[in-house]
Amino acid sequence: MKVNGFDFDDNTRAALSGLPRAGRLPHALLLECPDADRAAQAAVLLSMFAVCSGDGEHPCGVCKNCRNAREKAHPDVTWLPLLPQKKQYAISQIRDMIRDASVLPNEADAKVYILENCDERLASRPEAQNAFLKLAEEPPPNVYFMLLCRSAQSLLPTILSRFTVVRLRSEAVYDEAARRAAEDIARGILDSNEYPLLKACRALTDKACADGALAALRLHLRDALVLLSGGKPLGDSETARLLAARLTRQKLLDLLALCDSAGVKIKQNVNMNLLGTWVCGECRRITWQR
Ligand SMILES: [Zn+2]
Repeated sequence: MKVNGFDFDDNTRAALSGLPRAGRLPHALLLECPDADRAAQAAVLLSMFAVCSGDGEHPCGVCKNCRNAREKAHPDVTWLPLLPQKKQYAISQIRDMIRDASVLPNEADAKVYILENCDERLASRPEAQNAFLKLAEEPPPNVYFMLLCRSAQSLLPTILSRFTVVRLRSEAVYDEAARRAAEDIARGILDSNEYPLLKACRALTDKACADGALAALRLHLRDALVLLSGGKPLGDSETARLLAARLTRQKLLDLLALCDSAGVKIKQNVNMNLLGTWVCGECRRITWQR
């Protein structure tokens, strides 16, 4: 994916350019980014990639499809608006969009639907999210859905499991305490002695730190997975290399899922002392099971 002409930091650039597989984007994407403008820019780039009709690497940036998508004026790229006086998407809008998705595109070979600010517009609408589920499993050909949000954890776990979640975060977003906690937890996971992990997981009892620590831990795990598949990691962490050298792909995936579950529990106001103990126990179970 060509990311020329967009002002992204290295992490965002790497996350986006690593997305296409065999020239195609995942059909259901969830872009998580603390900065709504950057998320929107990322969605613009991805929509250009989806509709581009130029030769060579996409998006070419110069074909009519690219130019219109860039201006948010492409008939096949829908930035779903809110209805007047509304702060959330209406279920009828989601249903209309799903119906529209099965209609062939006008000018491009693909259709794209972009839903912004899903933390507020979709998060408290489980029925609207559920309408997506079947679609995310069996999307019409050449149709792409992109949900943009600040925190993926505000959406239903069933959505998270069906959408490809892309976290557009630069390392700098985590504060030092969160980064160190993630590092300690990852090293603790690899230690045959339980005590270092138990000690590291105490950082999760601090709610302010826990979200960042889990996000930073995810980055290590994700990079370890990328390393295992021979790809280029987003960060340059020794921790990710150690994780990749010592854990199987399945265990890394299970640990990632654990981070997501822990995030959901934080949102549900779980007792933070119990959370630390639970994460520690689950890490041990996942890591040391055969
Ligand atoms: Zn193009």
